[in-house]
Amino acid sequence: MHEGDQLRRFLFERWPVRGHFVRLDAAWRAVIEHHHYPRVLIGALGEAMAATTLLAGTMKFRGQLSLQFQGPGPMHLMVAQCTHRHAIRGVARYRGELPDGATLAELTGGGRLTATVENEQKSNRYQGIVPLDQPQLASCLEAYFARSEQLPSSLVLAADAEHAAGLLLQRVATGAGASYEEDPRVLAEADDAWERLRLLASTVSREELLQLPCKTLLHRLFSEDDVRLFEGSPVFFRCTCSRERVSGILRSLGEPEVRDIVRERGNVEVRCEFCNRAYSFDAVDAARLFASAVQPSAPPGVH
Ligand SMILES: [Zn+2]
Repeated sequence: MHEGDQLRRFLFERWPVRGHFVRLDAAWRAVIEHHHYPRVLIGALGEAMAATTLLAGTMKFRGQLSLQFQGPGPMHLMVAQCTHRHAIRGVARYRGELPDGATLAELTGGGRLTATVENEQKSNRYQGIVPLDQPQLASCLEAYFARSEQLPSSLVLAADAEHAAGLLLQRVATGAGASYEEDPRVLAEADDAWERLRLLASTVSREELLQLPCKTLLHRLFSEDDVRLFEGSPVFFRCTCSRERVSGILRSLGEPEVRDIVRERGNVEVRCEFCNRAYSFDAVDAARLFASAVQPSAPPGVH
């Protein structure tokens, strides 16, 4: 079976612990193929892509999860997105030199991560703010989960120019058929198991995460535990840009500005930062943009 670009779900038969594993191959390479990112930035963006995919895998939603990193550091903006169908895209912006080996905290200058879940109609949003005050993304997210009373979680991430991968364990409240809260002995046993599994997960090496087949990796890490591994679901690169969206951006720039650019260069070309697709508008297209925009809108209350 093809192992790459899969999100795998698994659970521990005996313990109230579930997990997700993702390894991105071609989908990840498609994210970075049109960019000449420095190595350290490839690492940061790859970890963000793996984290977004893992988190999207744990959620029941129809729409898109976005992780947006912002800060005063040299990498001032980074966006990683994953839809409920596991379509991913991502981009990073930076200025100046990025020191090799810089941590995420150093790259962003101690900024913050905004996680946004948006439904398909974009009518409903949920946002969470994660301070980027730990050196690595995984520890920032773990600290956030612990603080925000979400499920206790353990996360390991790794990425290079070929692969991006992540392993997420979550302690769920109850196991199948047993109420762990009711029996203190069972609860203590489950807590011990969680600590042990968490510790085992943290021993995974970067190479194992990036290279090993999921089944082998889980067997190697949790050889004493029965792990039920489910079929994977494919993850793929897909950009949601469209001529319509670009039209909206140009409209927000304003007619005089767009007309100036057309006069100067003959057309306006907007290139999508995520997928590098170019959208070109000549003088006629540009005029059309604003012709439709100035039409009187319907009076309030009439749809
Ligand atoms: Zn695009």
